[in-house]
Amino acid sequence: MTDELETQDAPAILRWASREHPKLGFATGLGVEGCVLLDLAAKEGVALDVFTLDTGLLFPETYALWRRLEARYGITIRAVTPPVTVEEQAARHGDALWARDPDACCKIRKVEPLAAAVAAAGFTAWISAIRRDQTPERANARVVERDAKFGLVKVNPLVRWTSTDVWRHVLANDVPYNPLHDQGFPSIGCAPCTTAVAPGEDPRAGRWRGTAKTECGIHLPVVRS
Ligand code: SF4
Repeated sequence: MTDELETQDAPAILRWASREHPKLGFATGLGVEGCVLLDLAAKEGVALDVFTLDTGLLFPETYALWRRLEARYGITIRAVTPPVTVEEQAARHGDALWARDPDACCKIRKVEPLAAAVAAAGFTAWISAIRRDQTPERANARVVERDAKFGLVKVNPLVRWTSTDVWRHVLANDVPYNPLHDQGFPSIGCAPCTTAVAPGEDPRAGRWRGTAKTECGIHLPVVRS
């Protein structure tokens, strides 16, 4: 069945995921693809346990979007928070750990809190908003994968979408999105690790700019069938 999903559209993939996994999670970074998935889930009547990693370092525009999405779709987007505040992290590891060791910072503020949240929630599958054309690491992503890191089925309804597809849906459906996307930020993460990109640059070039890091560690590794 999962092979057949490779040619299904995103609403059909969401409906399948909801049928197969009644307790379905969705960890969103509130990027534009995540906004599209919330819109599609609302239209399809697919109930998701939606949460976002509140690292304490998100842009003000991201926090505002969070509230707008909740109001628009009548949902609660749960906050998953790290075990330490930004100040406590600085006391233990020094100021601006993200600038010296972003992998360690993401582990503390994203990867480990996410693992704890997934274990506590007890769902068997989760939705991801990744697209194949975002990074080389995502180029071979399939609609349904085994997320070895979290022991979950990972469902990628937008995996075949392009950026143009995403924005066409946003504009046609008046989906709320982060205004930073209109200011040169195609990919938005924590404020200290995200810059605008120049025209023609890779859309994710503004994430951890100046380092070899391209992923926060949440989406890798997966087992592809
Ligand atoms: S994106 Fe940057 S600030 Fe956010 S958790 Fe990762 S390293 Fe830390």
